[in-house]
Amino acid sequence: MSDFKAVLDGSEVGGHEGMTILEAAEKMGIHIPTLCHSADLTPDGNCRICVVEVEGSPRLVASCHTPMADGMVIHTRSPKVLAARKAIVELLLSGHTGPCVTDECAKDCELHNLAAELEVGPPRFQVRKRRFYPVEEVSPYVRRDMSRCILCRRCVRACAEIAKKNVFSMAYRGFQSKVVVDCDVPLDKEFCRDCGICIDYCPTSALTKPNKEVA
Ligand code: SF4
Repeated sequence: MSDFKAVLDGSEVGGHEGMTILEAAEKMGIHIPTLCHSADLTPDGNCRICVVEVEGSPRLVASCHTPMADGMVIHTRSPKVLAARKAIVELLLSGHTGPCVTDECAKDCELHNLAAELEVGPPRFQVRKRRFYPVEEVSPYVRRDMSRCILCRRCVRACAEIAKKNVFSMAYRGFQSKVVVDCDVPLDKEFCRDCGICIDYCPTSALTKPNKEVA
């Protein structure tokens, strides 16, 4: 027996208590694009790509961490939702477009793939660019190119929840926000072991394997 009955894109859906809107949509075969989300990690809804419209709610909600509730009427592809997703991707691209679009990493970049899926063209926004960070190749295990980082925090969560290491955390505010190691020091082998989990979870090639041996 279902703990709730709701309507998702015009079809009735039921499920267990605590099921998120994203999980209910997946159960029905409805695709909702995501970026910061990974089924293995605690959802935190920070990228907002997975927003949906819930009738009666004054604002769009992130489907990855919003639980289903009895009587909800949800639209995953309304004009408002599609416009919001495109605007979010465009905003992320405006701070991310750079070397990634011209090198071999572009084909692996989830943000660029998402832009193609949502038919988002070159960004129109004139936002202040994030700081440019020099590529860091101190660690023998992880190459960090934080200019490509979109602050999805997957690496922070993957390192904490899967590797159980807590190597990464968030620091600074607004446009200066950054994923840092300790007090924003280079990542070296004192902090990190060769698990590669952060690399696996990074959607934009901000974290990759080093190109060459590091002493
Ligand atoms: S380094 Fe990669 S995984 Fe970590 S926050 Fe940036 S884009 Fe996300």
